[in-house]
Amino acid sequence: MPFWPRRAVEGPHLPRPQAGRGGPMSAGNKAIVIGAGLGGLAIALRLSARGWQVTVLEHGPSPGGKMNRWESQGFRFDTGPSLITMPWVFEDLFATAGAKLPDHVQLTLVEPLADYAFADGMRFQVSASLPQWLATLRKLEPRGDERFLRFMALGAKLFALSQRTFFRRSPADPPDWASLKALRYMPLRRAWGSYQRTVRAFFQTAHLRQMYERFPTYVGSSPRSVPATLTVIPYLEHAFGGWHVGGGLYEIVLSLSRLLESRGVTIATGQTVVRIATQAGRACGVETADGRLHPADVVIMNGDPSDLPRLLGQANAPGLPEADRSLSGFVMLLGLRRRLDGIAHHTVCFSADYAREFDDLFVRRRFPDDPTVYVSAPSRTDPTMAPAGCEALFVMANAPANDADTWDEPATAEARRRVFARLRQSGFPDIQSDIAVSTIWTPRKMADAYLMPGGAIYGTHSHGWRKAFLRPPNKHRRVGGLYCVGGGTHPGGGTPTVLLSAKIVSDMIARHEGR
Ligand SMILES: Cc1cc2nc3c(=O)[nH]c(=O)nc-3n(C[C@H](O)[C@H](O)[C@H](O)COP(=O)(O)OP(=O)(O)OC[C@H]3O[C@@H](n4cnc5c(N)ncnc54)[C@H](O)[C@@H]3O)c2cc1C
Repeated sequence: MPFWPRRAVEGPHLPRPQAGRGGPMSAGNKAIVIGAGLGGLAIALRLSARGWQVTVLEHGPSPGGKMNRWESQGFRFDTGPSLITMPWVFEDLFATAGAKLPDHVQLTLVEPLADYAFADGMRFQVSASLPQWLATLRKLEPRGDERFLRFMALGAKLFALSQRTFFRRSPADPPDWASLKALRYMPLRRAWGSYQRTVRAFFQTAHLRQMYERFPTYVGSSPRSVPATLTVIPYLEHAFGGWHVGGGLYEIVLSLSRLLESRGVTIATGQTVVRIATQAGRACGVETADGRLHPADVVIMNGDPSDLPRLLGQANAPGLPEADRSLSGFVMLLGLRRRLDGIAHHTVCFSADYAREFDDLFVRRRFPDDPTVYVSAPSRTDPTMAPAGCEALFVMANAPANDADTWDEPATAEARRRVFARLRQSGFPDIQSDIAVSTIWTPRKMADAYLMPGGAIYGTHSHGWRKAFLRPPNKHRRVGGLYCVGGGTHPGGGTPTVLLSAKIVSDMIARHEGR
């Protein structure tokens, strides 16, 4: 039965089924990427370097997806990521196009990594300098430095293992010799356990435990439910630092867009893909909301993979169940009329009861009564982010990704009140009367802007081994020539991981499509 709707449409007709088509390889070199998120831009660059003629179709008004920008009255805000890790992954992507990352963006190592404020008044900074952090640890708990180094040794082992396996290739591919060999390094006893139990086995004080239990929220998940392999996340931050990009992280998106343009790649914004066309079991193009047909030899989905069944014609496809979704966020972008001297680039103000907060988020599925609040003040490091004498703040609390939450005026005002209450209780300067410009991103707004289920930032959560390691695959199981890239697929969310997914997918396309 033909999938394509029988109606008059603008644009070229898609090729008709031919005898012999539908084989393992694409006949031509046209690639369409659905979505200009970081993953979509990265795969577009990699494919264009391999000779594909690439078009990127983006639903929103600008490229970047969650990695986006808001500017007002001389203030500049990143609306999504506020730090990057694993900078060499970005270098590797730029090198694909024969470009050098430092010629395009300026990375600055942020020091301290973060300032942590606890509900009982305890406060300490985590330095990017190892000797300095070890000295702090010795003060925080007896033999805290030794315990930390053992914790890092586990993280290092898991990172080395991930580099050879999870970060390099899709679990759907048959294992190669290098990945099988790497499994020898698997620290079996620890890696199979619970992340939270592992943190508690290494650290004794409530403060260090709470601090390290926060890291699974980097992938929108709960420390109680993720496997200990996620120890790799704090390892990455300690070992390789947290980096700011001069002018804001959105400069990465702008640089990639310029590189793509110079290579003849089209990024068409305001183009929502409503269908993926198939012929003889292969993707052969897409239809956009304006009814235009865009023929292609391969289609790469950068939107959430849970949307694929709908795009492939299953009208009532259920989408990603709420129980499987990673966290969303409640974000306030605040431009202040004054400087906040003494404030670090990154500050975390912890809630008084972390267990209750995760119950609110994942069990009761509501915005926490007392949320942990993260504040990024990039203007502390980078004066281009705010007018002279002013400060630009990104303020974020985790929130559940529920479809029914409308985030109307009262709900938004209440969340704002709770965030400011936590900041006040944590000793953060009173800033409410100094706000010159502001805007709020609720989970609803994120869901609508980036077509992400309920605003779930990282697609599925990473609870349990299956969810953490068997994410939606990079290659569609039934439809040839259809691939997935980005945070919703393997290996997962977060900017460097999204770039790794683009590398995995471009290698996969080379193997399966012959280019
Ligand atoms: C508030 C916030 C804070 C974050 N903080 C950090 C951080 O500090 N560090 C970090 O590394 N990461 C962070 N992240 C996560 C990081 O931003 C994401 O993991 C990454 O940017 C995701 O990129 P992506 O390409 O997978 O997807 P996306 O950015 O979601 O891009 C997908 C694109 O596809 C488009 N699209 C979807 N469906 C269609 C369709 N049918 N037709 C056309 N277009 C479509 C969407 O509009 C979107 O632009 C944060 C994210 C948010 C929201």
